Amino acid sequence: NFRCRSAFKLLEIDDKLRVLQPGHSVVDCGAAPGAWSQVAVQRVNSAGTDSELPRGTVVGIDLLNIPPLDGAHFLSNHDVTDPATHAKLLELLPNNRAHVILSDMAPNASGFRELDHEKLITMCLSLVDLAGKILQPGGSLVCKYWDGIFVHKLQEKLSSVFGSVRTLKPNASRKDSAERYFLARIVNKYRII
Ligand code: SAM
Repeated sequence: NFRCRSAFKLLEIDDKLRVLQPGHSVVDCGAAPGAWSQVAVQRVNSAGTDSELPRGTVVGIDLLNIPPLDGAHFLSNHDVTDPATHAKLLELLPNNRAHVILSDMAPNASGFRELDHEKLITMCLSLVDLAGKILQPGGSLVCKYWDGIFVHKLQEKLSSVFGSVRTLKPNASRKDSAERYFLARIVNKYRII
């Protein structure tokens, strides 16, 4: 039983692209009420449900309260864009590194589409800075955005930090909404062929 329908979007993305692996450390940004974290806990085995598999870590952050969840650490009433949050986050991550950053964050909608779009892009841009500090080599970032005129700014910044960026529109996301996701992965610069 998931806390929110949004779980199905992450399940769909992960079934297709295998972002979350057992043993991974995951940061879930904008985690309340906790449905994406529920999916992450299952996929990275952070509750230790399967004793044969490595045990992962899930840290969720939200401005709101996030009800407790077995297998997850939550930083409720924390702002993802605040450096004080980053310091606490690092302490909770094994080796101070994450394999995956998830963001389903959204600003409170003002009702003005362009303005909300721009606010969310600004939030996503700050996540790219965080990713640069805490992601493992080979790490991934999944972030929600609302389509609009500033998307190219985010896409350019993602491309400069990550080697590979793709746009996703899960079937579970309403067709008539501007909601999209970027999946960005750090491609190792030097590969042995
Ligand atoms: N993925 C969640 C789930 O599956 O349960 C739903 C997330 S909801 C669509 C977006 C959340 O982003 C809200 O709970 C909101 O409080 C949070 N949020 C917005 N700005 C934030 C910020 N600066 N720091 C932390 N959380 C933020």
